[in-house]
Amino acid sequence: MTAAPTTDGVLVDRYGRVARDLRVSLTDKCNLRCTYCMPAEGLPWLAGPQLLTDEEIVRLVRVAVRRLGVTEVRFTGGEPLIRPGLPGIVAAVAALEPRPRISLTTNGIGLARLAPALRAAGLDRVNVSLDTLDRDRFSRLTRRDRLADVLAGLAGAAAAGLTPVKVNSVLMRGVNDDEAPALLRFALAQGYQLRFIEQMPLDAQHGWDRATMVTADEILTALRGEFALTADPTERGAAPAETWLVDGGPARVGVIASVTRPFCGACDRTRLTADGQLRSCLFATDESDLRGALRAGADDDEMARRWRTAMWGKRAGHGIDDPAFLQPARPMSAIGG
Ligand code: SF4
Repeated sequence: MTAAPTTDGVLVDRYGRVARDLRVSLTDKCNLRCTYCMPAEGLPWLAGPQLLTDEEIVRLVRVAVRRLGVTEVRFTGGEPLIRPGLPGIVAAVAALEPRPRISLTTNGIGLARLAPALRAAGLDRVNVSLDTLDRDRFSRLTRRDRLADVLAGLAGAAAAGLTPVKVNSVLMRGVNDDEAPALLRFALAQGYQLRFIEQMPLDAQHGWDRATMVTADEILTALRGEFALTADPTERGAAPAETWLVDGGPARVGVIASVTRPFCGACDRTRLTADGQLRSCLFATDESDLRGALRAGADDDEMARRWRTAMWGKRAGHGIDDPAFLQPARPMSAIGG
């Protein structure tokens, strides 16, 4: 346990973890309606005035990069590609000294069209969500017939040099859990890095059920039916994904097993929501309001102090296995990956 929040330097918490990876949600809106994320009718979206402006986002990222030791910035949503100012925000963040690595988590809709401009603005790489290669199943899972757009988005990202192109897949029992080998075959053929993600209790409907979650062990067993998986000698560090060499490598596959193999002990993430709230953890049930301070005229010193204080209180882990576990009120669609 460290003594108290530092008055300068990095974002350290009371367990000694240092946050270097900032996840910024640019919107809570999305153009898909994934069944494990939100209802068909969508959600009561954040009102315009609640949302941080492009300038406010850039200012907060600048504080994080220049004063708090953040070296990685990941833009998420909802769906970040629907934010009109995205290229400008990326360009402003890419101009920061020291320059952070900049990535984006997206559902891929519109990526084929936007990839060249985002690359030119300074985006380094992308994570694209893809849970199935079957058109009908995609339409049932997302309630939109847009598989072709996602596949075009992946190809467009690779062509634009937004590499490595990472693919995030969530498997659900009896829905798409039979597709693990096919998804890996696809990723290997295209040169994408595939990571399976255990479904987490962060859906807006609060309907998550551990029994329908496909575990890391089950995913690995399914893959081993077709591929030889061996331990990846590369240092994992704070990376959420545990990785394996496929058929001796160099291709790899990853599993982000937040529920059955939590990696909170090495967590280096800090999160900013689209309405300017600071979250120390994906599963935090409390938030710190940076937007209010910002709009009340607080200077960068004050923003940095608040950020450090909020991260100092970060919990040891998500606590999903605790009998007292409480799912956060804010859904994943308003937190971001
Ligand atoms: S659950 Fe929270 S503490 Fe654990 S890895 Fe995720 S963000 Fe970090």
